[in-house]
This record gives sequence, C-alpha cells and structure tokens, in this order.
Amino acid sequence: MSEAPVSSNVVALITGASRGIGKAVALRLAGQGLSVAINYRSSAAEAEAIVQCIRDGGGRALAVQADMSDAGQAAGLVPRVESALGPLNVLINNAGITQDRLVIQMSLEDWDATWCTDLAGTRAVSRVALESMRLRGAGSIVNVSSVVGVIGNAGQANYAAAKSAVLGLTREFAVQAACYNVRVNCVVPGYIVTDATSHLTEPQRQAWMSQIPMGRFATVDEVVGTIVFLAGADSSYVTGQCIAVDGGFLAAAGMGLES
Ligand code: NAP
Repeated sequence: MSEAPVSSNVVALITGASRGIGKAVALRLAGQGLSVAINYRSSAAEAEAIVQCIRDGGGRALAVQADMSDAGQAAGLVPRVESALGPLNVLINNAGITQDRLVIQMSLEDWDATWCTDLAGTRAVSRVALESMRLRGAGSIVNVSSVVGVIGNAGQANYAAAKSAVLGLTREFAVQAACYNVRVNCVVPGYIVTDATSHLTEPQRQAWMSQIPMGRFATVDEVVGTIVFLAGADSSYVTGQCIAVDGGFLAAAGMGLES
C-alpha cells in the first residue's frame, strides 16, 4: 500500500481474491491506485477484511460474492462491479479449486466442480468483460492456469483438463479481442505456497521439489508481479501469451511454453 497512486479510476476485478494469490494481486493493484473488486465464494469475513485494509489506506475496494462455478453468477459479476466502481479495465481470472482423485474413482461431481470453477466461470465472466472493454476500446484480462495444465499430473485429470483449456481459451480470446485493444494473457504458476498446496503430504511435496530446478517453492509475491505486469501498461503490446512462473519446472520437463 506504499506505492505511488497511478489512477483511482482504473477498475480491476479479481476472482477468488479472499485468500492466496488473488488476495495478493488485489492488494498489489490497490497499492498502485486501482479500484479493486474482490470476488469470493464463501470467505466473506476474509474478503471484507481486505476491503477494509484497502479503504484504510485510502483506496477504493468492494467485496463481491459470486460462485464462479455457476455461469450465471460469474456473468453477473461485471455489471455488479461496474455499477459500484465504474467501467472495468482489468479482469484477473484467478478463482480455482482442485478435487483430486484417480480418474477411475472420480465422480461426475468432482469433475464438474473443478471444470466449472476453473474453466466455465472464466469463460462466462470473460465474455461479459470483453463486451464491456470492447465498447470502450481498452482492457486487459489475465487468466491463471497451472503447470498441471501443460504437463498433467496423476490424480488431477479434472484440474489438468480445465487448466489446459484455459491456455487455449487465452489464445483464442486474445486473437478475437486484439482489434478492440483488449489484451488477454495467462500466467502459469508452478508450486506456490498457499492454502491450496497446504494439504499436500510430505512425499508429494518432495516429489514436486525434486522437479524444480530452483530447488524451492514460490511465495505468492513471486507470482503476483507477473500477473500485475500482464494486467498493466508495461505489457501494452503483449497478448495471447502464457508465461510460466515455476522456478524452471516446465523447462526441466522439456515443456517450455514458447510456440
Ligand atoms: P487458494 O489459496 O485455495 O484460494 C482460492 C481462492 O479462490 C479463494 O479466494 C476462494 O474463495 C476462491 N474460490 C474457490 N472457488 C471459488 C468459486 N467457486 N467462486 C469464487 N471464488 C472461488 O488458491 P491459490 O493457491 O491462491 O490459487 C489461485 C489460483 O492459482 C487458482 O486458479 C489455482 O488453480 C492457481 N494455481 C495455484 C497454484 C499453487 O501452487 N497454489 C499453482 C498453480 C496454479 P473462498 O475462500 O471464498 O472459497
């Protein structure tokens, strides 16, 4: 919250911003002077605490409850945010869950929960955001995928499929949106220390660690910088790109993202 204000009338919506990466992005953007809408599903108290923190620092913020796995709720987010904060300039599609099981044990409910949150919600909110940004001839959308969407991972067929589709959706939306001066990019995190990774067992943690050339996991702040870069003017000629923030994980696996 100590950085110099850029503009209080630049509005950003961050999905899944009550915790983890989304929270850190919201605080960083608010620190740059943006007005931020903090979407959450169930963590109302956490979201309101972030809003209060931003307001205490002189910023503008709003908590907006919506279940991103529900396409109707996801699509309704943009008009709600715009009526409270003004036209949307930045959308960060960050909300995501995992429901891990081997594919033969995975129920349709497990499949749908992850698929709908991680992919369908992103599509639904992005369509509406793109329409708003198109009419004003400016905007930036950043999707959050995963290295699992590039390389796969045993027990994560639903998550891998959804996050892989986010890569394709990013490139397709980017090509469609470019003529309206709307950019669409994607960040591909490796292992980031958040609640989402806290449930992993020590053997699982060690298995990941052994594949990371930098020999350590990342903090949320180490992925936020790339998301904020893609959201803002410093990346004004970058679109359709998927950037890994993974300590070299994909490179070591021979799966670099360059096309
Ligand atoms: P996290 O700490 O578990 O936080 C998840 C956030 O998403 C929470 O704010 C949660 O809100 C929200 N959320 C979950 N389901 C939602 C829904 N249906 N509707 C609206 N919000 C919902 O996760 P994270 O580690 O920060 O991950 C953020 C993103 O990065 C995810 O897309 C994840 O797949 C991706 N990613 C993470 C890692 C990693 O290692 N952590 C690696 C690769 C990719 P509530 O608290 O209200 O449920």
